Amino acid sequence: MTAYLLERAWIDGTFRDDVLVEVEDGRFTAVTPDSDPPRAIPVRGLVVPGLANTHSHAFHRALRGRTQRGSGTFWSWREQMYAVAARLDPDTYLALARATYREMAAAGTTCVGEFHYLHHQPDGTPYADPNEMGHALVEAARRAGIRLTLLDTLYLSSGFGAPPEGAQVRYSDCTVEAWATRVDGLAVDPYARVGAAVHSVRAVPAADLGAVAEWVGARPLHVHLSEQVAENDACLEAYGVTPAQLVADHGLLGPSTTLVHATHPSDDDIDLIGTAGAYVSFCPTTERDLGDGIGPSGRLHDAGARLTLGSDSHAVIDLFEEMRAVELDERLATQQRGHWMAGELLRAGTATGHASLGWNDAGAIAVGQRADLVVLDPASPRTAGTGRDEQAVVFAAVAEDVRRVMADGRWIFVDADRAEIGCELDEVVARVWRLLEEEAR
Ligand SMILES: [Zn+2]
Repeated sequence: MTAYLLERAWIDGTFRDDVLVEVEDGRFTAVTPDSDPPRAIPVRGLVVPGLANTHSHAFHRALRGRTQRGSGTFWSWREQMYAVAARLDPDTYLALARATYREMAAAGTTCVGEFHYLHHQPDGTPYADPNEMGHALVEAARRAGIRLTLLDTLYLSSGFGAPPEGAQVRYSDCTVEAWATRVDGLAVDPYARVGAAVHSVRAVPAADLGAVAEWVGARPLHVHLSEQVAENDACLEAYGVTPAQLVADHGLLGPSTTLVHATHPSDDDIDLIGTAGAYVSFCPTTERDLGDGIGPSGRLHDAGARLTLGSDSHAVIDLFEEMRAVELDERLATQQRGHWMAGELLRAGTATGHASLGWNDAGAIAVGQRADLVVLDPASPRTAGTGRDEQAVVFAAVAEDVRRVMADGRWIFVDADRAEIGCELDEVVARVWRLLEEEAR
């Protein structure tokens, strides 16, 4: 057992001083505020639970800062992303994912939901181990020290039944049955779980959704949904219903479902999603980067949906920024302030996010929970003078203010690691772009 005395920590929805936590076998065995123990390791700073990043495509990190020239849309950005997807092999995928997950760890993330669709060789042939790419992600998270839910993604079509094309042949298992058989073969470790994803209503024909529901059962299921108005229009044209109605009609909308983005739901969709008690994963920094729009977070919340946060394309990896962006974007959209309390946003980024990834025992500093701690500097140039409470954390702190991170009782990041993580990212992203340039010659 190891005892730590946390100078100021967020427990039971509020900040308390001098919190004694005891950690054994990776879990909290005691959490006592206002303590004055003779022997405990002091942890100075503002301490919050581990953050959960509920929507990641690790390899998109290679695109940061490189897709910002000229005009375009989500769809033209997707062409650039596909070019990267076409070049990765298991070695570069592992190296890129490991560096990306280390950046996440340095930003306070202790668990990631990886929406994984890059399954097969560039021509669509499975690797000798058909889960080689998935196993690379599990290994990347293990080496970075964070937990991972591998949301293995079903992708069958380039759009409403049309066959996959270009890089998409790497994503496709051809049938639901082949996908399910492959996913059943995934080997995971104690810090990884397997969940499922339906890429989108574009990529999985309606006729296949029922079989997915049968296989998924109570596992976490994530679906990209209504990120683009064009997706809604195409779904209405193909099936006569919205994407949310379509997944509901096929038994895929329930309390273990996470709808990623939900940027353009109809009024009826909002009721449907809320009544189902589904999670939504908002990714505001990606949604702004891609020009998706502003999702109706407040109305979804009022209807009963549970908010979580992801960094998706990793244009930014900073869950504090995602938290405040939900409120600040609502202000822009409605010309009103005060839709979300800071504590609600912090809960979205911690306990609710973990639960949506299948980890109900993480995301809170409480007895029995996994021992995750994120230590923030309360006197950085950003946080100094901001009040040392949840409003300071959500509306002032940035990833750079994270000083130390514990996951499952192990310190996985200390401030001194930051420069080395930068070097690792620099090296691996350069490697990916060299591959792309070789392809272009
Ligand atoms: Zn995504």
